[in-house]
Parts: sequence; structure tokens; C-alpha cells
Amino acid sequence: MSGDETSHARDASPAISDADEDARNLLRVRDLSTRFFTEEGQVNAVESVDFDVRDGEVFGIVGESGSGKSVTALSIGDLVESPGRVTSGEVWYRNADLAEEIDDPEAVDGDFVDVRQVPENVRRSLRGPSFSMIFQDPMSSLNPSLTVGEQIAEAVEVQRRARANPRSTRSRTQGYGLADMLASTVLPSRSYVSEESRERAIELLEQVGIPDPADRADEYPHQFSGGMLQRAMIAQALAGEPDLLIADEPTTALDVTIQAQILDLLRDLQDETGMSIVMITHNLGVIARMCDRVGVMYAGEIVERGQLADVFDDPVHPYTQGLLGSIPDLDEPASRLQPIEGNVPDLYDHEMGDRCYFADRCPYAMEECLSHPPEFDTETGKPVDPKTDPGEHGARCVLANHEFRPEDALPEEYFAVESEDSSGSDREAAETEEVNTDD
Ligand code: SF4
Repeated sequence: MSGDETSHARDASPAISDADEDARNLLRVRDLSTRFFTEEGQVNAVESVDFDVRDGEVFGIVGESGSGKSVTALSIGDLVESPGRVTSGEVWYRNADLAEEIDDPEAVDGDFVDVRQVPENVRRSLRGPSFSMIFQDPMSSLNPSLTVGEQIAEAVEVQRRARANPRSTRSRTQGYGLADMLASTVLPSRSYVSEESRERAIELLEQVGIPDPADRADEYPHQFSGGMLQRAMIAQALAGEPDLLIADEPTTALDVTIQAQILDLLRDLQDETGMSIVMITHNLGVIARMCDRVGVMYAGEIVERGQLADVFDDPVHPYTQGLLGSIPDLDEPASRLQPIEGNVPDLYDHEMGDRCYFADRCPYAMEECLSHPPEFDTETGKPVDPKTDPGEHGARCVLANHEFRPEDALPEEYFAVESEDSSGSDREAAETEEVNTDD
């Protein structure tokens, strides 16, 4: 275990031991990196990400489009597809029963299991009871040729069989396949989905607020509105009674009033079931409304994390400050919004230098920001109350423990000159290549 985050928490708060921290954690992500191997080059979509999710909390991940939020969600859900791959890191889920079954000391740490070190079938068995995901666009996530009720009942059935026969790899990992479909068509009495699962599907539809759930269960996805489809997706995700729900932009495709209803629903379900939620969004309003703690992502890295109030009231990283400064202030409607100049960098490996990735957009960039990527630091100068704040508010920025002195700032034209230089050298390289080709 890399223990980057753990070691900072230990330094800042000796009163809270690692064991106490782990007892509160449901998920520990350490040093997680995900790459996409494209024809244009290697894309470093997620870079050495560390965070914990605790029992019953909502942990938010926020950032601009292209910052790596969704790929982080897919990576912890083991759902990254080719040409992408999780290339390093650890994803520890707390699952005491599974930890007892696994016969590999490297993959087990107390009640935690590192899903990256267990066989594929075991990893898949965690989907449902350990975690579920809901996505931005429910229409593309549901099968248009099956009724909503059938799809939820199938998810319930898979989990029901897994619970009835926990050692059966097939029941734990496979859903309704072609053979099942043919068998249930030819012999209706051999239906894959039991009556009990169908009834449970209707209960779940009721739980997520679908009116007339028994009738609506027989309808197809195209007969549902956007908000109802998202509710149906949530019902399907709840089929395995997950400890953790990963919600990737769950309200982005919905209009504002429906967004609020879905967020309220998620909060109510969380209160009811005690599950934890990882909420992925670009919307700071959603984070403010839903989350207990938050991680801010930029260019594949978490650049600041902490309790919601710490990060929103006392942001350390200039990117977080920029995000917060770019939303309207209702107390001062006449004030101008402050956009963050520039764009998120391309994440191609050959273009990512060994320096702070935010440097060319940062008004505080200094010489020392360019020599190496800044470490995560919790030394924010704030007093730490070990009972309520395990010292976890930190930022990947030299300002976390350095006073900014205006005289240290790089001149405004520094990056413009630098990019002209590099495009000049690119041009030269291209010209040389042309000459060589002509030769
Ligand atoms: S490390 Fe330097 S360049 Fe990067 S955000 Fe902090 S002050 Fe700005």
C-alpha cells in the first residue's frame, strides 16, 4: 500500500490511528493511474489518484470536462475498456466475507480486498453487493427491447442467486445470457427470473418514487420520461443492496427541477440504506448540496481534497479558487464572473511535463512549480481538531505550505514565450524531417 494519504493523516492527527481510519473507510484508493493507448499516443487520463470513502458519506469528485472524473469512476468500478487500462494503483473495498475467502495475503488487508489483485470472476462478483454505478444517460444504459421491470428483476435475480449460492462463480458473475433467453422462450416455466425477483423489482420501483410501479414495470424504456428512467436506473443499481453507489453525472441530462428531485431521492435513499455515494459531477451546486467531502480533479489528478466546508470556504489550490470564483454570487448579483483563463491540457504523455499541470493557467506560478510536480500537502496552517478534522484538507500545490510573494511570480508572458519557443522548435523539427524525407 502506498499510503500517501494515510501518512499525511497520521502526521497531522496522531490522535486518530490508521486502524480507526480504516474502520470508518469503505473504499481506499491508492496511487491509481489509468492510461489510454491510442494511435496518437498514450493519454494519462488518471494520474496517481488517492482518496478514501467513508461509511455513509457522500464523497464528491468535481472538475471540468476532460479532468479525468469519469475515468476515475470507471477505474474504481473496474469498467475501463480498451484501449484504456488501469496501469497501477490499488482499489481496496471493505468486504469482510470476501476477505476471508481470498487466499492471497497480498490482496487482503484486514477486512479489505484489493480488487486489482483478485481474479476477474471475484472482481465481477463485487458488482452489486459492494458497489453499483449509475450513469449520465439512462436511455443508453437500459436495453430498449426489454421492459424496465424485466431489467431490474434480472439484476435482482443475479444477486438473489449469488446470495443463495455464494460459492457459485456463475451465479455471482453472470446475468441473463442468450442460453437463458432461449430456454425461457421455449420453456416459459424455466424462466431465469423468479416471481420473487419480479416482485422485488416492483418494490424497488416504488422505493425510487415511480407511480403505479406494478403497471410501469411492464413498460419499455422509451415509454419513460428522462427523470423516470434515471429513477429506474437507480432502482436497478439498488438491486444488490450495494454498500457504495458510484453516480457519474447522474443529473446532467435532466432539467433543473428533475435534477433536484433525483438528488433528493439519492439523499433519502442514502439515509434509508446507509450506503456511501461517490458523486461525480462538474456542477459545484450539486457538490454543495450533496457532499460531505470533496476531491477537486484537474488534468487527471486530485489537486485538492477535504471536508466540503474546508474546501469551499478556504480553498488552497488556485484551480479550486478559480472554479469557485467562476460561479455567480447571489449576494452580489452585479459582480463579474471570473473565468479561469486557458484550457485543460491535452493529457498526452509526451506533452505532460514534470511540473504542476496547472502552471500555465495559474496566476501564482513560480519557478519552483516548474521543477517537479507538487506533492499533496496538508500543512495549510489551519489548526487541526483531531476529533472532527483528521487533517485531511490538502492540496497538490506549493501554496499549501508556502506564502505567495508577488516578486516570485513568473512574468505573465513566460508561458506565451515558452509555447512560441516550443512551436518554433516543432517547426524546425518538421522542416528537418521534410529535408530528411526529401533526401
Ligand atoms: S503549484 Fe504553483 S503553478 Fe501549480 S497551482 Fe500551485 S502555485 Fe499554481
